[in-house]
Amino acid sequence: MPDGVSIALLTCDLRVHDNPVLHAAARDTATVPLFVLDDAVREAGFVPPNRAAFLADCLEDLDRSLRDRGGSLLVLAGDAVEQTARLADALGAARVHLAEGVSGFAQHREQRLRALLGPRLTIHQAVATTVAPGALLPGGRDHYAVFGAYHRRWLLAERRAPLPVPRKLTVPQLPWPGLEQAEVRARLAAAGRPAPGLLPGGESQGRRRLRSWVGSNAVAAYPELQDDLAADGTSRLSPYLHFGCVSATEAAHRATKEGSPGAEAFLRQLAWRDFHHQLLAARPDCARADYRPRQDHWRSAPAELEAWRAGRTGYPLVDAGMRQLLHEGWMHNRARMITASFLSKTLYLDWRAGAEHFLRHLVDGDVANNQLNWQWVAGTGTDTRPNRVLNPLRQADRFDPRGDYVRRWVPELAAVAGPAVHRPWELDAAERARLDYPEPLVALDAALTRFRLARGL
Ligand SMILES: Cc1cc2nc3c(=O)[nH]c(=O)nc-3n(C[C@H](O)[C@H](O)[C@H](O)COP(=O)(O)OP(=O)(O)OC[C@H]3O[C@@H](n4cnc5c(N)ncnc54)[C@H](O)[C@@H]3O)c2cc1C
Repeated sequence: MPDGVSIALLTCDLRVHDNPVLHAAARDTATVPLFVLDDAVREAGFVPPNRAAFLADCLEDLDRSLRDRGGSLLVLAGDAVEQTARLADALGAARVHLAEGVSGFAQHREQRLRALLGPRLTIHQAVATTVAPGALLPGGRDHYAVFGAYHRRWLLAERRAPLPVPRKLTVPQLPWPGLEQAEVRARLAAAGRPAPGLLPGGESQGRRRLRSWVGSNAVAAYPELQDDLAADGTSRLSPYLHFGCVSATEAAHRATKEGSPGAEAFLRQLAWRDFHHQLLAARPDCARADYRPRQDHWRSAPAELEAWRAGRTGYPLVDAGMRQLLHEGWMHNRARMITASFLSKTLYLDWRAGAEHFLRHLVDGDVANNQLNWQWVAGTGTDTRPNRVLNPLRQADRFDPRGDYVRRWVPELAAVAGPAVHRPWELDAAERARLDYPEPLVALDAALTRFRLARGL
């Protein structure tokens, strides 16, 4: 049994259940669960209003859960590495525990901590993911580049069992006080006003959602409904997974244990998440650089980019997705694919501009999942069919056949009945004149030809 003081530096693992970092730190005589509001993360624009509001809920909820067990969350502000090392020295901490990160930023943070703390730093794997990046490797390569092959290995991979909540925590005498929760909230609120339909953050909320998801018929219906835009039949666990309020390992474990027929499809999505994490860990530059360059010379069309961002492209399904993003800070996966294909292929604008907008608004906005899904759609990533273009009208017929998703998110079209809502330009002139809705930004045929020419097809 180790003794002394240890610090659990929490990052994207804001939970007490199944948290290897907290679990290890709690074995010491005294434990400081620490979160640092990192100036560099804020200055990089990575804490926009939606994620800031969600984070404030997470920190408050975590502090409450820790207090129930005799501990508390110490929140500091500044440079995470300097703050942690200074605290470790002041406390004479024997150990600092941290979850392995995959982004360039996280890898750099880890190196800096290692330089200052040496062997006192312990990195824990598979905290954010169910399988650690690098744990599964194809022969001769440092990561999997094809999802199918990764998924087959992933299904057979060994996983740890979820860890219990530490029963009792003891906090040592702190050398200086942390920020009060009210101050934390005020600092995060300075990011700006969050989306009106944002989900509340925190482990308690996340666990409630996980429980009702795995324990209900929703998982069984998932394979059927996962692409049905109006049904909204996905788990909406992504923000809780992103902030680590819910452990991916526990979600996978519980979905498997329930043995629901839909569990397989749900697990497949968690495998996509692990897949993108292992890819970014090996190629952190792919947050910006093309994973597979296609010699693209992207167009520059600021007005078109702005129309896409605002949900005013004149293609109702695309606009519905973009409006959902602005209203909820979240978008259905099928809509993410359609809107991203529209930007990067139909408009042939740089995927990075789209990814940036998504990162600014998505409450689950995540470097691994966002940038690499964008690359997948743009055809610069791991899609084995990089030049497929999603036609928003055909997608509408398949995934919003009654038009309910569009009517929900594009109020100008709410009065248009049935699937006609997807083609407002076909309505009679009088009806069209009554709608305050733009003409299509581009003709789909011409855009497809332009894209094919650009890709040399
Ligand atoms: C252009 C684009 C950008 C995206 N950006 C993000 C992002 O920033 N953050 C993010 O978490 N997801 C992102 N995704 C993936 C996916 O759209 C979301 O994870 C999903 O919509 C979240 O809803 P859910 O929790 O209801 O998912 P469910 O369908 O219930 O799936 C369960 C979980 O599996 C994971 N998952 C599902 N699909 C994917 C996927 N394609 N890639 C990786 N993980 C997946 C998520 O963690 C999700 O919570 C993006 C997809 C696209 C096409």
